[in-house]
Amino acid sequence: MSDYILVLDEGTTSTRAMLFASDGVLVASAQEPLTQHYPQSGWVEHDPREIWDKTLACAQNILPKAGGAAMIACIGITNQRETVVAWDRATGEPLTNAIVWQDRRTEPFCMALREAGHEAGVQERTGLLLDPYFSGTKMRWMLDNVPEVRAAAEKGTLAFGTVESWLVYKLTGGAAHITDASNASRTLLMGLEDAQFDEGLCDLFGVPRAALPGVVDTSGPLAMTDASLFGRAIPITGLAGDQQAATVGQGCLAPGQTKATYGTGAFVLTCQGSRIPRSKNRLLGTVLTQLDGQRTYAIEGSVFVAGSLVQWLRDSLGIVEVASETEALARSIPDSGGVVIVPALAGLGAPHWRAEARGVIAGLSFASGKAELARAALEAMAHQTHDLAEAFAADGAPWQTLRIDGGMAANDWMAQDLADVLGVTVERPGFVETTALGAAMLAAAGAGLYPDLASACQTMRGRLATFEPAMADEVRDARLAAWKKALGAS
Ligand code: ADP
Repeated sequence: MSDYILVLDEGTTSTRAMLFASDGVLVASAQEPLTQHYPQSGWVEHDPREIWDKTLACAQNILPKAGGAAMIACIGITNQRETVVAWDRATGEPLTNAIVWQDRRTEPFCMALREAGHEAGVQERTGLLLDPYFSGTKMRWMLDNVPEVRAAAEKGTLAFGTVESWLVYKLTGGAAHITDASNASRTLLMGLEDAQFDEGLCDLFGVPRAALPGVVDTSGPLAMTDASLFGRAIPITGLAGDQQAATVGQGCLAPGQTKATYGTGAFVLTCQGSRIPRSKNRLLGTVLTQLDGQRTYAIEGSVFVAGSLVQWLRDSLGIVEVASETEALARSIPDSGGVVIVPALAGLGAPHWRAEARGVIAGLSFASGKAELARAALEAMAHQTHDLAEAFAADGAPWQTLRIDGGMAANDWMAQDLADVLGVTVERPGFVETTALGAAMLAAAGAGLYPDLASACQTMRGRLATFEPAMADEVRDARLAAWKKALGAS
């Protein structure tokens, strides 16, 4: 019986192939690091050939562990979002390096569009802001600055795509030039209500619509691999950007269900159901899934500094040797002794959006030591998340549960503190690779291994640890008041 699911998880720093059994259990994985190119300050590039070669190699290495390609029911792909690849349809070869999501080179173009008064209209249509993060301005930069890209556009052979689109093109031997709706919703070139890329938005950003892929579902019979790659054509049945895949992997398919990933920074998405998100608090609106052409949306917000604050305690202050020591330190005292940390070390993201803000440590006394600082650092996660929760609620997306993952979610003290300060149940899955698991769920449902995505999630999600709110109201109110005061000083 061919019932394994092959997931290709193409991240920013590495690419992986992972083999899941149909019940969601990880059977094997293979990983290769990706070279980061930094040609100038603020620029970040990847080599699309390296992405493809290493993805294919990982997939081919892992197939014997399933007993060969005959045992693979389907493929799911999840990817670093917003990163742009340009290639030539005539040769199937990249025309230049990929511009990575972190790259800031298109800020002048974004500023010009903001100054021309386009942001409100673009946000209304796409759910996004005019920021270099998103794909559209990166495509325009390539057209303006890379002669090979411009020449291909003039010949009509130019193909643009985000990373999943590039991988599907190569996996199908050039037969399919498609992108899924979750990735398409990060480009600025598709309205949240549009089935396909929009001519008017393409004109605004100066991107030829003919170079863009067709927008398809996140789950379903999307494409078939070229038989020569794995010895047999395998259906590709799931595609989603990494944060959307993680949201599915956490089973957040009903309105109000929320996942928060605490890694270097924190990414929070709340499912909105079929309602199109319209933020008044500078949160983003994005496509979560598209099934049979029907979309589910999400509201998204991120904070810049989460685990990196703990890294700073470790590497710059030497307060801990390993990140996990913060948990025992936080537990060793009844409170932070009045110490409050505002982790604005790289400015403040959602919902404050103050790029110029800098970090603050407030309330120091001679009694403040390592434990107080470690505890205040962990408490800052709940405080920042609380501000996001208020913004989400103000945008009509109050949280029902918070489902956490990412490296920092391993910290039980922090998980309990989140439940206490937010006043919602916090759930943490036993299997924390929620991005890959979400891609496996989308692929499994798309291949018909389950009747629908909800049942795939239900069976494949696995065991959960739960944390229930238990903090007294006065304690919570005092914490949040001290946080607000310190925030004012940042
Ligand atoms: P990313 O995917 O962004 O690289 P990870 O999800 O691997 O990040 O999370 C790593 C981050 O989590 C690091 O910044 C580290 O400081 C922090 N971290 C890891 N384990 C713990 C822990 N037990 N307690 C607190 N922070 C932790």
